[in-house]
Amino acid sequence: MPQFNTLTVAQAVDLLAQGGSTSEALVGDLLEAIRARDGAVGAYVHLDEADALRQARAADAQRRAGKLAPLLGVPIAVKDVINVAGQPCGCASRILEGYTAPYDATAIARLRAAGAVFLGRANMDEFAMGSTTENSAVKITRNPWDPSRVPGGSSGGSAAMVAADEALAALGSDTGGSVRQPAAFCGCVGLKPSYGRISRYGLTAFASSLDQIGPLTKTVADAALLLEVMGGADPLDSTAADLPMPDLAAALRQPDLQGLRLGLPREYFVGGMDAEVERAVQDAIRHCERLGARLTEVSLPTTKYAVAAYYIISCAEASANLARFDGVRYGRRAEDAGDPYEMYCRTRAAGFGAEVKRRIILGAYVLSSGYYDAYYLRAQKARTLIRDDFAVVFKECDALLAPVTPTPPYKLGEMLDNPLQMYLGDIFTVPANLAGNCALSVPCGFTAAGLPVGLQIIGPAFREDVILRVGHVYEQSAAWPRCAVKSG
Ligand code: GLN
Repeated sequence: MPQFNTLTVAQAVDLLAQGGSTSEALVGDLLEAIRARDGAVGAYVHLDEADALRQARAADAQRRAGKLAPLLGVPIAVKDVINVAGQPCGCASRILEGYTAPYDATAIARLRAAGAVFLGRANMDEFAMGSTTENSAVKITRNPWDPSRVPGGSSGGSAAMVAADEALAALGSDTGGSVRQPAAFCGCVGLKPSYGRISRYGLTAFASSLDQIGPLTKTVADAALLLEVMGGADPLDSTAADLPMPDLAAALRQPDLQGLRLGLPREYFVGGMDAEVERAVQDAIRHCERLGARLTEVSLPTTKYAVAAYYIISCAEASANLARFDGVRYGRRAEDAGDPYEMYCRTRAAGFGAEVKRRIILGAYVLSSGYYDAYYLRAQKARTLIRDDFAVVFKECDALLAPVTPTPPYKLGEMLDNPLQMYLGDIFTVPANLAGNCALSVPCGFTAAGLPVGLQIIGPAFREDVILRVGHVYEQSAAWPRCAVKSG
């Protein structure tokens, strides 16, 4: 029976450093777990076993030769939207079928330099648009805690593989909650770094002013470890900020939450929320108080504009970003077209799924000359108000505590015919993207039916140290069970 697949990243680092095992054995155990479980879970869209083992053996050889690197031989899985040189990068879309990444994203290049091994590609909603991973053109992914339910999205494959011990950690991307929401639905940790903390170079763009790469992990400490490696300025992305990383290790050494003021935004605790989710989050908040935090109620009055502003801005940016998929430069091309215009149309008609088309059309509409002022410009103004709201509360609070989602994971199929209902489920996650804040999702219990619930910790931009400290102290003392699969 495989055993190394249950390790955290930090445990794997220690094990390998102490010579307790090899990267090859670790990857071997993960492959065994994947073979046994992934038929049912469906978290991976691509996995080249021979290549993963080759990378692992190369890392082992480097270690024998005396090389020191923080993640040497540690396998990491990657959402199918981030480029890893030589691996497919299909964004779970038909239009990128057969496309191989020609280069490493900066986050990947930094993990590679730190010695990481790239295990395989995680399923997702097509082009990261969705909240259930059901918009994948490849297949559905099931929630390992309850196979009749979705793992969340859009980084659903990344969350499911971590929750099922089919990966030690996986990368996702978060434009409006796509790291935090699947982490909450699958009972793992999800970090959305501040906008600009991690380079977006090599992350296939959905909405460039909102996108961030983020880790999905078994522990908060692992999220810190991966952030440390991936973060920092990048000449290839001018929006990657040239700011020093706070001392994350020091933040995680804090024994309690003494001296921290944590705000409870009134607008995040409203009617309509699932009662069990609300109870689990409230319990976690009381727990944080017992750990030394001072709680204060705060108000973010423009929260009510966030979902509308998010869908206008993200669709506008998506309609521009996805114009590049025209059959000329990437992936699939409709073959029997008479002229180039017909070729573009047929390629895009056949290549994009329904949700992606809906967003491209919506985005083109809100940017069109007759409607630009009425929709796009107003959404940008709302965005400014939302950001200003956060600036005010962060004058009196170090971080905010909130739910990640208003409900537990949906049943498979439940949201398919109701995109608007699905969009509304993003209410607690999109504000942090609109404002550029950092935010963390940590498991905070289960419903009576055994479905995971997430606590969200939102911090000011570039204060990942604060939210990681809160998450780590809470996680250590709450100690919720972490793997959805009990054996085999
Ligand atoms: N669920 C949101 C959406 O569908 C968020 C997606 C994301 O963060 N990539 O747009």
